[in-house]
Amino acid sequence: MMQTCSIAWFRRDLRLSDNPAWSGAQDAANAVPLVVREPRLLDTAGPFRRRAFLDAVDALGESLAATGVDLRIESGDPTEIVAGVAAEIGASAVHVNADVTRWATRRDDAVSAALGAVPLHPHWGTLVHAPGTVLTKKGTLSRVFTPFHKQWQTLPLGEPLDLDESVPEPLGTAVERAGGYPATRDLPGVAGTTDLSTALRFGMVSARAVVRRMLDEGDGGEAIVRQLAWRDWYAHITLGAPDIDRVALRSEFDAIPWETGKDADAAFAAWSEGRTGYPIVDAGMRQLRETGWMHNRVRMISASFLVKDLLIDWRRGERFFRHWLRDGDIPSNAGNWQWVAGTGPDAAPYFRVFNPVTQSRRFDPYGAYIRSWVPELAGLDSRSIHAPWEAVPVDLAKMGVGLGVDYPTPIVDHALAREETLRIYKAALQNRTADPLGTSAEK
Ligand SMILES: Cc1cc2nc3c(=O)[nH]c(=O)nc-3n(C[C@H](O)[C@H](O)[C@H](O)COP(=O)(O)OP(=O)(O)OC[C@H]3O[C@@H](n4cnc5c(N)ncnc54)[C@H](O)[C@@H]3O)c2cc1C
Repeated sequence: MMQTCSIAWFRRDLRLSDNPAWSGAQDAANAVPLVVREPRLLDTAGPFRRRAFLDAVDALGESLAATGVDLRIESGDPTEIVAGVAAEIGASAVHVNADVTRWATRRDDAVSAALGAVPLHPHWGTLVHAPGTVLTKKGTLSRVFTPFHKQWQTLPLGEPLDLDESVPEPLGTAVERAGGYPATRDLPGVAGTTDLSTALRFGMVSARAVVRRMLDEGDGGEAIVRQLAWRDWYAHITLGAPDIDRVALRSEFDAIPWETGKDADAAFAAWSEGRTGYPIVDAGMRQLRETGWMHNRVRMISASFLVKDLLIDWRRGERFFRHWLRDGDIPSNAGNWQWVAGTGPDAAPYFRVFNPVTQSRRFDPYGAYIRSWVPELAGLDSRSIHAPWEAVPVDLAKMGVGLGVDYPTPIVDHALAREETLRIYKAALQNRTADPLGTSAEK
């Protein structure tokens, strides 16, 4: 008699440990692990995310090979491939970890239809808590982070799905840095954050395993766990507002007349290439393009600069970040862009504009971060490195820096730009319309 088998289709959960889809498929006997390399995803991902995905697939293949199982890797449209493999091996079910984006939901609906009588079993293995489980007393998703977090913390994590007690490799750095995290997490010149985002993006480590381990690490570990609640929150919001990367969640701000045309394109190019004349912004954008990662504090500063100083649509910045980021992910990226732009739920109030110079002096006091990424300014002292235009030209010349020659003069005056942006935002507020989340009473 032919033994039943099932498929575990791995997508952004590229691990064996603590993986509900993999466990679910194994429970059904003879699990066949499958990865589909989807051209649409690979073509739109920038070089760093593409590489990270392919490396994660290789690592998964090696983990499986160590247990004597071959990972089946196919390339093409998953609608045809998954149904084709299921028919070929006579699978009784396909197990997946569900995802929250509109694109993933549509893909899974199409695959499910193509599978016909073979069920597609969704599990939740990419987040700490599944969407729909963290609700207010009224049974809705809170659009304010703090109450969401409070409730999120009370939910049980459940037992790990396997007894592997070793610390998964990507967690090593997090364990090492947890103690210092509260003091150093905001300092881009210090390697003080966990560096877990790419491993979480592709599920090389389970978010629940991170929480379980970090809860043993005192205050630092708790601060890290709180960041994972933000990650969950943006994912839960995305499931209910799948156009989060296209539509302002506070729709009145979609009335903002963003800058467009030749000048805006030139300003966008200067921002994206790290030549705005604001060293902290330029350092961040260069770090992004050279490594595929940018420190969180600098992501906030450079995103704010694009939206609030250049008045360029946050959607343009969101797409650019998503292309280049190794951890680029619609919920976290669009959620944070909307937070910075002041257009999202529980966002920074629109009138809070990051000052790129004071932020730089506060969080990179000795200019260590700027020196790493903007080497032409490395000779400047710790005061002028944040705002070279404030230095006396002769001092700059002594350090070999000619403003407008070796390093750009600022492309915009921050104080003037801020005033103009606030005026425009205020005008947009007069155009209030419905709230796409439908939860504005939920404060
Ligand atoms: C404009 C902007 C865009 C961003 N785009 C992304 C993105 O595409 N993908 C992404 O994973 N993160 C994004 N973030 C959030 C954050 O910057 C990164 O998660 C973090 O810098 C990754 O480094 P880390 O793993 O060392 O973070 P740590 O500080 O060590 O945090 C631990 C984990 O918590 C989660 N986390 C931390 N901060 C946030 C946050 N603000 N929102 C959601 N999750 C968070 C991440 O999974 C992270 O790996 C963005 C932030 C901003 C301001």
